[in-house]
Amino acid sequence: LSALFSLIQDMIGSLDLDVLFGRVLQIIKDVVPCDELLLLLYQEGERLQLRKTLGLNSALTYREVFDGSSALTEEINRRRECLHLPDLEADRRFEDYLRDYPETRSLLCVPMVLKEQLLGVVNLHKKTVGGFSEREIRLVQAITAQAAIAMENARLYQQTRDLSNTDSLTRLANRRYFQAVMEKEFAQARRYGTNFSLIMIDIDHFKRYNDTHGHLQGDKVLRDVAQILHDNIRGIDLAGRFGGEEFVILMPKTNKEGARAAAEKLRLCVAEREFSGAAESQPEGRLTLSLGVAEFPEDADSLETLQERADQALYQAKKEGRNQTVAWNSTAPPLPYLTVLPLR
Ligand code: GH3
Ligand code: MG
Ligand code: MG
Repeated sequence: LSALFSLIQDMIGSLDLDVLFGRVLQIIKDVVPCDELLLLLYQEGERLQLRKTLGLNSALTYREVFDGSSALTEEINRRRECLHLPDLEADRRFEDYLRDYPETRSLLCVPMVLKEQLLGVVNLHKKTVGGFSEREIRLVQAITAQAAIAMENARLYQQTRDLSNTDSLTRLANRRYFQAVMEKEFAQARRYGTNFSLIMIDIDHFKRYNDTHGHLQGDKVLRDVAQILHDNIRGIDLAGRFGGEEFVILMPKTNKEGARAAAEKLRLCVAEREFSGAAESQPEGRLTLSLGVAEFPEDADSLETLQERADQALYQAKKEGRNQTVAWNSTAPPLPYLTVLPLR
């Protein structure tokens, strides 16, 4: 009992769903003799999706999804309580289950229910008929009840973390989170001798757009621009909102030329998009971006300097007429406000 208690404590403490599922199955296997364990999650659209297994012979074919029309999903959904089949072959309703898991003779399905919501189900298989004892079933029920609470806990934690890391208007990374990721990337790049690039982005003449069409329509443009940025970078890149109408993109393992090309692509994507009212309010008749690019370690040896460089490149793009990308270049003439930096 005390071993079980400490295992459950361990399980409840885990906020990573994958780790949690692994622990749930292991705890059950430790206390209830069985051959195979499956954890299936209930998804919207009435499907049970396989998420974790233990002891399963991977050479056998098995189904990963049981949709609403499968006998198992229907039964679980209808009853929301344990389904115990001491002799699977004797029950014709579950022929398709037997086809997927042909060695199974005893089956115990225990649903995980929380606040009347079906979260998933844990299935125990035995290769012999005879099923599970009353005591074993109660044990599995107790463990899955705890698991349901732990799942909800992990889900809420994940949700809170997502909320505190994203900008509420655009859903991109917020400044604080972006800074944290960038610091990690910087430490890694320095340690392993790799490079990364930053793109600073500012919408051109956005004040005019706002003044002409109002703040609400301006907010919609910010959301649309954020979506374009998000959709046109790689999965390992990170887009953030730095404030107002300023965005920033972190590109791991990317040199300045690569980042410049990516920035140009983003610039064109925005310039080619029809934004409502842009023809009247924007000087070029369309919404445009100015972008500045800098690379670590090529352009700077600290994060602060790197950000300054990207900012300076952006400033230069503005100065040279907007709607363009400028990559920071150490040989360029210093910009007026740079005179505070040592000139050498
Ligand atoms: P430039 O080409 O030099 O960047 O001109 P700009 O008008 O974009 O630059 P400026 O920094 O003068 O103005 C930024 C404007 O962005 C001010 C404000 O109207 C708008 N803005 C900033 N934050 C928000 C926001 O959260 N929502 C909306 N709708 N507008 C914002
Ligand atoms: Mg600005
Ligand atoms: Mg601007």
